[in-house]
Amino acid sequence: MFPLRMFLDFFIPNTCYTCGKILEKDEKYLCKKCIQSIEISDIETCLNHQLVLENKYFHHLFYFATYKDVLKDAIHLFKYDNRPELAEILAYFLFYRLNEIQLLLYEYDFILFVPLHHVKKRERGFNQSEELAKQLSLLSGIPVLKNGIVRTHNSISQTKISFESRLKNVNNHFRGGKNAHEIRNKNIILIDDVVTTGSTLNEVAKALIPFGPANIDCLTLATARK
Ligand SMILES: [Zn+2]
Repeated sequence: MFPLRMFLDFFIPNTCYTCGKILEKDEKYLCKKCIQSIEISDIETCLNHQLVLENKYFHHLFYFATYKDVLKDAIHLFKYDNRPELAEILAYFLFYRLNEIQLLLYEYDFILFVPLHHVKKRERGFNQSEELAKQLSLLSGIPVLKNGIVRTHNSISQTKISFESRLKNVNNHFRGGKNAHEIRNKNIILIDDVVTTGSTLNEVAKALIPFGPANIDCLTLATARK
């Protein structure tokens, strides 16, 4: 039988999610021009990126680019417009950065992701950070540790509140999950989509510290910090 998908592709060509251009055969979701327009941050910038945190529980924070233009549009569609399939292409950006930092620093034993509260996950239908982590695992071969961390409170969205409130909004909202003991003496890479103050990543790292990881680094697609 002629697959319906092929039939649809023939009559309704796939278009770039961010600019609307008809995609070439070797393009998926985003066109090359849009991808090439993203200004990739260099590693030095990541390493010098100072966060305003009283106590920092992770070691380094790495990100792919600044939260603007095409990357901002793509992340917005991914999270708020129910396009979980975009994780496939966005994870390539994480993979690009992961390759660089593995060469520079550590080999990671586990990928962890910032959990959503179960109520929010049910509303959205998926956890964007978990989808990124799963795709990054497929690309890198590093396993995702599920149930490593649990979100105990459904906090207000960090994007809807002031910078100062963000620092306190997620205080003690996480605890180690039933598999958290597996991180003892392991190198962890913790994934989230966007970092602003770093307070969410820091609270997750804080909840993991009692389980004795050797190192926790954080990796996000974008930084929204001015
Ligand atoms: Zn495009």
